[in-house]
Amino acid sequence: TNLQPVEVNGILRNAYEIFSQQLKVRGIEVSWDLGKDLPSVMADPGRLEQVFINLLINARDAIEEKTKMEYHGLNRQKEISVKSYNFVNHQLIIEIKDTGTGIPDQVAEKIFQPFFTTKEVGKGTGLGLSISYGIIKESKGTIKIKETSPEGTLFQIVLPGVA
Ligand code: ADP
Ligand code: MG
Repeated sequence: TNLQPVEVNGILRNAYEIFSQQLKVRGIEVSWDLGKDLPSVMADPGRLEQVFINLLINARDAIEEKTKMEYHGLNRQKEISVKSYNFVNHQLIIEIKDTGTGIPDQVAEKIFQPFFTTKEVGKGTGLGLSISYGIIKESKGTIKIKETSPEGTLFQIVLPGVA
């Protein structure tokens, strides 16, 4: 890997641009709240982008799944919120929140394991979150579910900023 100081907001925007058409055609709105003057983080930019794309794919799938569960999927809010902010001691927080199915406890325990998936054959490899976990670890950060309920899920990444 190729760790270097990177600007997280730019990478979040790139990840979204690669993926935005997929969200638009499904009527999924994306709302942004990117912090200003954030510290850079040490990361491999291509790999960090992959983490954000993985989280966006999972958010999309969870929203689609919930739409299927609901009667005609009418009047539902389909939204992904992306937030970045500075926390104490030069820590950078990134949060990706969706209005999808939520994650039951017995599933949440396993999501970072390689090949764990609840998706149909051919739809998920079960590798997205295990790879993402490894990438965030390389940058000495953490990734976890911060909140989940039948209203949706919020994934939080914490990365040490470059002083
Ligand atoms: P895959 O997407 O290929 O199934 P991942 O490692 O990306 O593999 O995710 C593992 C599992 O975690 C998914 O199959 C799903 O059950 C659960 N999951 C991940 N993100 C979300 C989310 N945002 N909402 C609901 N479930 C999720
Ligand atoms: Mg995935």
